[in-house]
Amino acid sequence: MPVHGEMRPCARGHHCSDRQVVIDNGERITQPALTYRAYCDRDREHLARTISRLPQQYVELYQALPRSNGDGPKVSGSKAPPLPLRADVEALMRDMVHVVASWQKVIAAVAGLAESGPKRQGRALSDACRALAAHVDALLALDPWPVVRYMPLADAAKLGAASGFVFPHAGYAAVNLELGGADAGDELLYLAARCRSILGLTRRRDLLPVPCHACGYVAIYREETADGMQDEAYCGRCGETYTGAQWRLLQRLTYEEELARQAS
Ligand SMILES: [Zn+2]
Ligand SMILES: [Zn+2]
Repeated sequence: MPVHGEMRPCARGHHCSDRQVVIDNGERITQPALTYRAYCDRDREHLARTISRLPQQYVELYQALPRSNGDGPKVSGSKAPPLPLRADVEALMRDMVHVVASWQKVIAAVAGLAESGPKRQGRALSDACRALAAHVDALLALDPWPVVRYMPLADAAKLGAASGFVFPHAGYAAVNLELGGADAGDELLYLAARCRSILGLTRRRDLLPVPCHACGYVAIYREETADGMQDEAYCGRCGETYTGAQWRLLQRLTYEEELARQAS
């Protein structure tokens, strides 16, 4: 990948996984990593991994769909987590297929790949994710490109002058937007965060007693896996993920918080 021009802050901003926190005049300032591309190397890797995992999350969403015959996901024990709402799960599954397919079309046009014919949605999603994960650099380097996004009317109203169609009875609008590479990355990471948030409802998870550094809310969860608790955590409110060094820092803060609580 050729490198041009000046280094700039990673487009993930205060969500950057390679961010540094500096103390200036007693104030904590978060600095995203500097990069020649839209995302720093660590976020680029994170995005590629996230895209590759989307098809599996789609399958898990399908399995989590509350069934009308009462045959939904099995939850056992007294600490049964609440079930997600069917409409939320279906809306997310539709958004995943739509957003991923739209970026696959753009990448196919830019990279000169053959367009594929109609397929079943789950299959289309995994093929599209494979194509995107293989072209993450081309995706992140995209100039603004016209795309259509479906959103609730309230969200569409916030965009102001954007053009599109309004479906008042459905409460939705189809809005024409111009989105580039960093927007594509943000959209895909946000889809994965919504999946985790909904799927998290079907699993046992611990709420950590420290605020999320990105949004400030106490909403960081650690999920249970088949063999214990996961060595990472995520914010259920803004989707921030805590892995690697960020996770170790979070563990230390949680530990200090616990010590302070016991001392008081
Ligand atoms: Zn970054
Ligand atoms: Zn947060």
